[in-house]
Amino acid sequence: MGAMSVVTRFAPSPTGRLHAGNTRTALYNWLLARRDGGRFILRSEDTDRERSGEHHLDAILDDLAWLGLDWDEGPFRQSGREDMYREQLGRLAEAGRVYACWRTDEELAERRAWQRARGLPPRYDRAWAALPEDEVARRQAAGQKSVLRFRGPDRGEVRWHDLVRGDRGLPASEVGDFTLTRADGSATFLLANAVDDALMGVTHVLRGEDHLANTARQVALLEALDFPVPVYGHLPLLVGADGRRMSKRDGSRGVADWRSEGCLPGAVVNYLARLGYPWPHDRLLSLDEFAAGFDVARVATSQARLDEGHLGHWQRLALEALDAGAFAAWAGAALEEVPEAKRDAFIATVRPNVTSPAEVGEWARVVFTADEAIPVADPEADAALFEALLAAWAKHGPDLKALAAEARSATGAKGRAFFHPLRLALTGREHGPEMGGLLALIPDEIVRGRLARCRDA
Ligand code: GLU
Repeated sequence: MGAMSVVTRFAPSPTGRLHAGNTRTALYNWLLARRDGGRFILRSEDTDRERSGEHHLDAILDDLAWLGLDWDEGPFRQSGREDMYREQLGRLAEAGRVYACWRTDEELAERRAWQRARGLPPRYDRAWAALPEDEVARRQAAGQKSVLRFRGPDRGEVRWHDLVRGDRGLPASEVGDFTLTRADGSATFLLANAVDDALMGVTHVLRGEDHLANTARQVALLEALDFPVPVYGHLPLLVGADGRRMSKRDGSRGVADWRSEGCLPGAVVNYLARLGYPWPHDRLLSLDEFAAGFDVARVATSQARLDEGHLGHWQRLALEALDAGAFAAWAGAALEEVPEAKRDAFIATVRPNVTSPAEVGEWARVVFTADEAIPVADPEADAALFEALLAAWAKHGPDLKALAAEARSATGAKGRAFFHPLRLALTGREHGPEMGGLLALIPDEIVRGRLARCRDA
């Protein structure tokens, strides 16, 4: 027998699209499985019937596939696994670790607040665990809906070794007697998620730090079930670019937005892989390269900042790596206005200056459409310069050197005094692709029209 093979999973709740946080979680679990030739499982945690939807799951699968995060098994759906959860509840009941409780979580929260206010430990008093059996039977017969609670450890601490955060523990008093079922009898997150990890043979769970307290409870639960406990690693939370709590905007933007804005999957992968993980290379890495070098112990314990400026950096590098054909495919409909014969030259000229297909379309419009609003006359240039440029253009056409020489001998304008008015006149913009390349692309009548309008301004 070889070493135990790694099994990881991504277990989203299908209530919306992938955002930065859960996409990074998916990525890290994928990397861990792929590094060791293990398996990566997909599981839809869709027990919240009201908020979950198959269309959300479809969108998540589509986003994962787009990123290149392929899965070996699933997607499994928790909504179809209730029998398995009930079976494990039965085993827990036999072991004396379950009892019915007729108090809601809200009431218990109030009670804990009451205890805390009096300096008492916020421990559930297990009053319901002491309910006589005949009283339990009477209430059940009367159809009074209860929830089932896990009888947590009485004393000591639940301990585990966290791949990111080292040795961790939670005192039994804080583990508490948490609920295993909802009032409608369905399994809670804590039960379904832990049971599934065990039944699916999951060996490693990487998930957000917000699950730390859940992990203590699930370790206790799995131990009570005599199931193997996976190795956990808790990823640092993401914060907004300003280092503060994630704003709605930071947090809600995700794969769907990036895709629709023309981000390349490789850019998104490089951005997310580096959130809270100090990769030694600053070049664009492939998924396989990330997998080969992935070491959970290197995950930072400090919060990771979301900064889409970094995404833009990786987007530029990912775009540079495309050949002309792939670039054209990426730009897609943005190239519609570009005449076939000028397509290659146009792409070669504008690609260093664009990060989205929308920007490609914008340059196509600047270069190829006679938009009256485009020429901007540089207030520091006088009509004589544009007159000279028109004359030079008539003589030499798109020859930047010849234009510069003529302008200089006619008006003395050189350097910025030549380039700035020329760029503003022909593009209406302060910055953009290299001027010589643009000159060769803009149709003759458009060049003449723009220079003339600036002369007459
Ligand atoms: N459905 C849970 C979530 O999205 C899964 C947490 C976990 O990875 O265990 O937060």
